[in-house]
Amino acid sequence: MLKELLERFRQGYRTMPYPQDSPPLPDRYLGLPVMSPGTCRSNCQRCSEVCPTGALTLSGTRPALDLGQCLFCGECARSCPEQALQFTRDHRLATWTREELILREGAPLAKGQRDDRRFRLFRRSLKLRQVSAGGCNACEADINVLSTLSFDLGRFGIQIVASPRHADGLVVTGPVTKNMALALEKTYRAIPPPRLVIAVGSCAISGGPFADHQEVHNGCGALLPVDLWIPGCPPHPLTILDGLLKIQGRS
Ligand code: SF4
Repeated sequence: MLKELLERFRQGYRTMPYPQDSPPLPDRYLGLPVMSPGTCRSNCQRCSEVCPTGALTLSGTRPALDLGQCLFCGECARSCPEQALQFTRDHRLATWTREELILREGAPLAKGQRDDRRFRLFRRSLKLRQVSAGGCNACEADINVLSTLSFDLGRFGIQIVASPRHADGLVVTGPVTKNMALALEKTYRAIPPPRLVIAVGSCAISGGPFADHQEVHNGCGALLPVDLWIPGCPPHPLTILDGLLKIQGRS
């Protein structure tokens, strides 16, 4: 036992001081895209042609990027001869509405708080049930990692629970396959109101790369009233954590 205590002392406190301080993100990390007004001059359309999901559309030389469909592959930025579109390292991507995920030239992502009475209830304790509705397990893995000691989700009073009856809200990942739709709706109904719905990842938001496939519902928005949208493919754990802290008014 003494050995364990000494080892614990040697290792020290390993949890990151987020949100006061952010840990360094990997070099290849792509965060919030920015489109500088007026820099797209050639109207070559290359960015929209290379986009695998149709997230990036052009009206003349005015691009619009739907973060809810974006896979953050970076192909659009690499293909642009004018460097009109660039990815920053800003991991804070969560929005309150689906419309806010559509970025337009020169317009920043809306990052304000939302005055919702329900959110005040969850400031110190937020229990969530996670449903993978046909996900590839990438978003699920990035949610799981939040419970490790590096992130220590529990210090914010946030916990992923096993039963919807113990939960305050539902975290949905995956494009919502037809096979999972009923299970998802039943899980939602089993959560006592006032309940939250959080869509994590481009699949849960729009169907992602599976959009318009006959076996998917293009995300959970058509089936459930979504309160928070967290884009990414998958979102970085800090992006998910930032979204959850937004609900608690801490981010
Ligand atoms: S980063 Fe997003 S918008 Fe750009 S090409 Fe990839 S999926 Fe399309």
